[in-house]
Amino acid sequence: MKKNRKEVLIAAVLLLLTLCSGFLIQAFLALKEARRLDQAANAVMTASLDSIRSSADETRRELAAAKEQRAGLPQQKRQRLDDLHLDLLMVVSAASPLPEGYVPILDIVVGEYEMDERCAEKCRQMIEDCQAANMGLPMICSAYRTQEYQEMLYENKVVRVMDEERIGYEDALKEAATVVAVPGTSEHQTGLAADIMDEVYPYLNEWQEYTDAQQWLMEHAPDYGFILRYPPDASDITGIIYEPWHYRYVGEKFAKEISKRGLTLEEYVAWRRGR
Ligand SMILES: [Zn+2]
Repeated sequence: MKKNRKEVLIAAVLLLLTLCSGFLIQAFLALKEARRLDQAANAVMTASLDSIRSSADETRRELAAAKEQRAGLPQQKRQRLDDLHLDLLMVVSAASPLPEGYVPILDIVVGEYEMDERCAEKCRQMIEDCQAANMGLPMICSAYRTQEYQEMLYENKVVRVMDEERIGYEDALKEAATVVAVPGTSEHQTGLAADIMDEVYPYLNEWQEYTDAQQWLMEHAPDYGFILRYPPDASDITGIIYEPWHYRYVGEKFAKEISKRGLTLEEYVAWRRGR
């Protein structure tokens, strides 16, 4: 009887071991498959980001070559190129994308940052005057962006949203667009916009408004032809949240009129059309 019980016990242990090893093997195979899928997904993602980055480099090279070529052109031809400039009052937004292939004629503002040649120097002057007035530490953190660079920003955001929120690609495209403009719809691609922040408070959120640099810039930007493009309580008109750091060049005359009337660019353009 005792021997019998011992045999049953051994059989039970053997059965348990067999079951356990079965589960372990299955779990191991599932993990291996998950890892393989993950690696494959990473490889696809890396390949597409690499191709976007290398085409951004290519565009930069083309841009530099075009600039060099333009400098050598006779005055008359250069004038014709200048006529291709975007209208200073052009609204560029999700509802109103840039003309396809538009590339502004650029000039350096400071360091690696470039803007449309019509406003690069004005922007630099505005920042210098803000510093001279001892109002914070104004610095550019984004200016002109190429289509390829905007694509990279947007793609990166899509990948991050998919990862953080565990949602599919299609949903992530929409979600990402609420934070990073869809390529072709960012005002930074016009070369007429710059994000300027106070280094004392290096965060792009609504508290940026209370820094010394922003207080000065908001008051004086129109003197240099710039407006605060996405004011508070206007996101139903502009489609963009309050951004107390994003300045857009429209020229001195329009900037002063827009700020005096307290309008958004969209409202001002509509008002002018209706006159
Ligand atoms: Zn911006």
